[in-house]
Amino acid sequence: MSHDAPRSNFIRDLVEEDVATGRFGRPVTTRFPPEPNGYPHLGHVKSIVLNFGLARDFGGRCNLRFDDTNPVTEDMKYVEAMKADVRWLGYAPDAELYASDYFERLFEIAEGLVRDGKAYVDSQNEEQIREGRGTVTSAGTDSPYRGRSPEENLDLLRRMRAGEFPDGAHVLRAKIDMAHPNMVMRDPLLLRIRHAPHYRRGSEWCVYPLYDFAHGLSDAIEGITRSLCTLEFKDGRDIYEWLVREAGFERPPTQIEFARLELEYTVLSKRKLLRLVNEGHVSGWDDPRMPTIAGIRRRGVTPEALRNFAEAIGVARKPARTELATYEHYVRDDLNMRVPRRMAVLKPLKVVLTNYPEGQVEELEAPSYPHDVPLEGSRPVPFSRELWIERDDFMEEPPKKFFRLAPGREVRLRYAYFITCQEVVKDADGTVVELRCTYDPATRGGDAPDGRKVQGTIHWVSAARALDAEVRLYERLFSVLDPEDVPEGEDFTKHLNPDSLVVVRGAKVEPSLRDDPPGSRYQFERTGYFVSDAEDSRPDAPVFNRTVGLRDSWAKVKGS
Ligand code: ATP
Ligand code: MG
Repeated sequence: MSHDAPRSNFIRDLVEEDVATGRFGRPVTTRFPPEPNGYPHLGHVKSIVLNFGLARDFGGRCNLRFDDTNPVTEDMKYVEAMKADVRWLGYAPDAELYASDYFERLFEIAEGLVRDGKAYVDSQNEEQIREGRGTVTSAGTDSPYRGRSPEENLDLLRRMRAGEFPDGAHVLRAKIDMAHPNMVMRDPLLLRIRHAPHYRRGSEWCVYPLYDFAHGLSDAIEGITRSLCTLEFKDGRDIYEWLVREAGFERPPTQIEFARLELEYTVLSKRKLLRLVNEGHVSGWDDPRMPTIAGIRRRGVTPEALRNFAEAIGVARKPARTELATYEHYVRDDLNMRVPRRMAVLKPLKVVLTNYPEGQVEELEAPSYPHDVPLEGSRPVPFSRELWIERDDFMEEPPKKFFRLAPGREVRLRYAYFITCQEVVKDADGTVVELRCTYDPATRGGDAPDGRKVQGTIHWVSAARALDAEVRLYERLFSVLDPEDVPEGEDFTKHLNPDSLVVVRGAKVEPSLRDDPPGSRYQFERTGYFVSDAEDSRPDAPVFNRTVGLRDSWAKVKGS
């Protein structure tokens, strides 16, 4: 598969300049820094592709670093999921690192700041600290503890670490400027006491670094060159620069912000995704409707499609919502070139070929790929007197432009024969239960030797040999473009799409599918792209998830 040259963007341009000028005096070094408090999602894919892609393209390094500085919400299962998903996406981190391994180093840096008079222990409570910060329009006020001597601060800081004080008794703050125009710079908190077990450090550590303190310094410790983050960290850039400078790092990393991925009909926030799971709106983190990598994978999307999507949307400074159609385009485009074609009938209607011998089954050969896909292969497809076709492929009174089966009309059964509908059998309610048709033996393979044409070609499976399957038809999980846009007091869950999952039981699929491993992907001809569900499929009771639909020409005509 061809790989286009990486598209240029403002970050790539800056990195190119760094390399040309030798700005950092070390190879391009990036990091992907998730907090292990949820499963990674499509937004993370954007960041992963950006960070790992830059390292790859400039011959540098990219670390996977867990930003695990909050003992309350983090868990090893999220670490494992993140590692597996990064690898599945096709990237091998140059190092797997944990901010929680830097606690000692960060503490030493804190001691250094205290000695230099750049940090102090504040003993106000949370509320007093908040009030003292002032507002955007008014300066804050100095803490009464701001004047403590370095010796007193150092003593208190060490006793904080030794576990002498309860949560909230003291915090360490940077000593910057309580009237700074950037609120973040008004003596930000650096360390706080937390007597809570950490998933990696257990209970031995109790002075936890705050995000701003841990993040930039972790970057600096690792020798990161450009620290790429999303726009909400823009105000944090001042403290980032202050800390790496005061801590004495040579040629420290610098932060660049870019617009996060926002996608139509989708929420991308671990907190909200966690709620969908906990409240049972979805079956789990890997529900195929979830924008998590686990869900996307179970839906049948390939890592290549995700990478292509992320590369194509690029990065920019300005926030924008990406169209769902763009995402689906890259999913379809990738599957089109790689998956075999098969036949499956979702809503079966029985067809009996009255002139076909009873009990006979013949094997027809069907190509697995169309001409424009550079892959080869075929499989035998059994053909018999009784067949299933799609209920929607028949209309008793067809309107203009409906070219499929109708009374008296001849159509092609794909790869098989021409058939003509002779009789419609209905039940007492008037529901069509069976079509009695004749087939033309001279049209074997799907062409008439006399050159006569038919307007419609439909798919089918042999009733004698079909497998019964469950098919799960997925639609967008939310029914509005921006599910997070809700009036005050209301909740994003009100926008959940009640029809996001339609389960079809009793679908009929061709028997060749029985031999494929779970997780195999297909195009069901004329229907869409599907993947066998590795979790729920059984050899004689397969389950298929719809990855993405094809565009249905009739639905378009009907809708217009
Ligand atoms: P969430 O809001 O889902 O909790 P987060 O930013 O808090 O996301 P982290 O695990 O802390 O999640 O983020 C890891 C990395 O992924 C960060 O560099 C973050 O900026 C990036 N990231 C997270 N969400 C997106 C997104 N929607 N688009 C681009 N990058 C993202
Ligand atoms: Mg977060």
